[in-house]
Amino acid sequence: KNYSAAEIKKITAEENVQFLRLMFTDINGIIKNVEVPISQIDKVLANKVMFDGSSIDGFVRIEESDMLLIPDLSTFLIFPWGSEHGKVARLICDIHTPTGEPFMGDPRNNLRRVIALMQAAGYSRFNIGPEPEFFLFKLDENEEPTLDLNDDGGYFDFAPIDLGENCRRDIVLELEKMGFEVEASHHEVGPGQHEIDFKYADALEAADNIQTFKLVVKTIARKYGLHATFMPKPLPKIAGSGMHINMSLSNAQGENAFYDGTTDDGLSEIADHFLAGVLEHARALTAVNNPTVNSYKRLVPGYEAPVYIAWSGHNRSPLIRVPQARGLSTRLELRSVDPTANPYLAIASILAAGLAGLEQQETPMSPIDRNIYGMTADERRANGIADLPSTLHNALKALEKDKVIQDALGPHLYQSFMDSKRHEWNAYRQTISEWEREQYLRLY
Ligand code: GLN
Ligand code: MG
Ligand code: MG
Ligand code: MG
Repeated sequence: KNYSAAEIKKITAEENVQFLRLMFTDINGIIKNVEVPISQIDKVLANKVMFDGSSIDGFVRIEESDMLLIPDLSTFLIFPWGSEHGKVARLICDIHTPTGEPFMGDPRNNLRRVIALMQAAGYSRFNIGPEPEFFLFKLDENEEPTLDLNDDGGYFDFAPIDLGENCRRDIVLELEKMGFEVEASHHEVGPGQHEIDFKYADALEAADNIQTFKLVVKTIARKYGLHATFMPKPLPKIAGSGMHINMSLSNAQGENAFYDGTTDDGLSEIADHFLAGVLEHARALTAVNNPTVNSYKRLVPGYEAPVYIAWSGHNRSPLIRVPQARGLSTRLELRSVDPTANPYLAIASILAAGLAGLEQQETPMSPIDRNIYGMTADERRANGIADLPSTLHNALKALEKDKVIQDALGPHLYQSFMDSKRHEWNAYRQTISEWEREQYLRLY
């Protein structure tokens, strides 16, 4: 909703809002916030609140550390859960430099920039429908997360109404109070694993929604003595948590540009080119869409997570699936993304990959309707099926070679992302796992 500053002042007074939470997202996708008492509302609405950016990952050097928080008034929202000190409202902010320019180390500003490139290419919206999955673990007496799951249900099970089901229903109710349209909510394949799907939205709003969603899930889970985690693969030998991204472009008239009723498969040429672009840049995209060491523990055969670069309209083993629905619902589903991805960076990069495919008029490989996991390496090669990167290190190497995805991040974010992720990989390399000791300690 497009609130005016005056409306926000009126609502905060009527609703007895005592605190304003000014939110933004760092390069790792972590929500940061600066909370101010309601007495500061005029300053907030006049775009005058500053914060020290030097302490935020991927932001700025010490010498240019003061940044301005520019609230996006359309994101105004009162948190539905109570606070004994009065209600809390939030505003998602863009970050500007002290001289008032959009700061390009801010992932949200960067997404706006890529959306503007899309508009210049003649499209009005990039519609994104995410399917985030997560696990619920029990908290111990010190409120620390354990590895105890709280149920042993499975996919779409009618598990006996337990803590997890109740918790998930509560999450859905809170989300609805906050204006989310929840389309589906179900138990996932893994014990203690859940999925909640909400209605698609235009790119920027969708990224905001993903961030808000994670906050709501974690907040409500805590009320139930549970810890919600979006870690991609918390437990071995059990499905990991992905965040499938359904996407389509709208043309200037607001129609779905991926649909064409006159072709064999109902997909437009635009959809073909876009799909080809995402496939072409899939390896570099993986660095952004699967940005943690743990992300690659999920991208292994056997758990409905993609391992190979291919697409299909019929089965779910490839990287991209084209769901059967046509007309307004014509879309591509990218199945590699996991919920540790920074949604602003992920959506900007996917969009840039698709736009590059459109610009170059690329043609996608033929669809693969067989189970790729049943193919030999030779068969895969014969069908032009490449592998997704198998580690964060390999994904970063792919990103280093891909100018399109580098440009999707822009120089500032690309540099900070690389620095931060190389550091993460090097830290991981210093560790010795239990698996290694079990394998080698006695044997050698
Ligand atoms: N959990 C699976 C993944 O890692 C997806 C399962 C599903 O939604 N069908 O992507
Ligand atoms: Mg789903
Ligand atoms: Mg799922
Ligand atoms: Mg899905």
